[in-house]
Amino acid sequence: MTEAWGPDDDEPRRHHGPVRVRVPAKINLHLAVGPLRADGFHELNTVYHAISLFDELTARSGDTLALTMEGEGAGTLPLDETNLIIRAARALAARCRVPAHARLHLRKTIPLAGGLAGGSADAAATLLACDLLWGTGMSREELAEVGAGLGSDVPFLLHGGTALGTGHGETVSPILARPTTWHWVVAVAETGLSTPEVYRQLDTLRESPWPPKPLGDADELMAALRQRDPEVLGAALGNDLQPAALAMRPELADVLKAGHQAGAVTGIVSGSGPTCVFLATDAAHAARVADEINAAGVCREAVTARGPMPGARVT
Ligand code: ATP
Repeated sequence: MTEAWGPDDDEPRRHHGPVRVRVPAKINLHLAVGPLRADGFHELNTVYHAISLFDELTARSGDTLALTMEGEGAGTLPLDETNLIIRAARALAARCRVPAHARLHLRKTIPLAGGLAGGSADAAATLLACDLLWGTGMSREELAEVGAGLGSDVPFLLHGGTALGTGHGETVSPILARPTTWHWVVAVAETGLSTPEVYRQLDTLRESPWPPKPLGDADELMAALRQRDPEVLGAALGNDLQPAALAMRPELADVLKAGHQAGAVTGIVSGSGPTCVFLATDAAHAARVADEINAAGVCREAVTARGPMPGARVT
């Protein structure tokens, strides 16, 4: 791994060659959504978990700021000033008072608008890559501060692992548990869901005569993580956004059912959906569950993944 600082350096090290950063997707093992705040955000109490589905961002020196991409969303995702990668590069340049000059290339695997925080992951990767390319020498905490202004999940994607997210998700505290690898199946949908619309749907459901019961804090989930037993963890997973995603996309019930019939420990909508994730007991079990979900033809593709993974890292 390339470090921003050498052992005897007074100055942050500047990279002249390309800087390549790999960044994971996230799922939420627990996502408790509080009431809508005056600032337009919902108060969250969430447990983030980084999984082995990665985007890769390469930064090279250039005379202007330019972005190209390949993979998921190529041809659909705008590469202009609205892209979180461009916004992240500009935010870092403004904070460090350097010109926002870089040639950036994204290789995207994380599906768009999938509830896996792909855009936030790309912003996190950009902050790290440009910091090294420009020699701006920011700490991960300083990058997380810049990232919090771009998206609630960006600070977590700089840190990775499994972590508690509070505030609107931007305040991240690592959860220290004995190292355990969890095995997942990620069922990717044909088309995405808009995160703000899913939150609005939840607000509507909460005003209805039969509001869904909100989750409490993450204590049970945290205790389950320490037990390292997939059955115990499976019973503790929860997502307040799931009823809203199911109301907007009723066919997600078929995906959850297919995972259940395939023998997954449990299944849950990831974040705002429409991706569904299933917990398996080990790698071979995850592969069997993924095969059966694929055979059921209820989603675009089911793939296996492991977690927790580190956050954005130079490769
Ligand atoms: P979250 O759960 O963080 O809200 P998501 O996983 O549901 O996110 P993303 O793929 O992160 O969805 O992106 C949501 C929207 O953000 C996209 O539909 C797109 O319009 C916009 N966007 C801007 N930049 C990017 C990027 N680099 N990658 C993906 N989406 C981006």
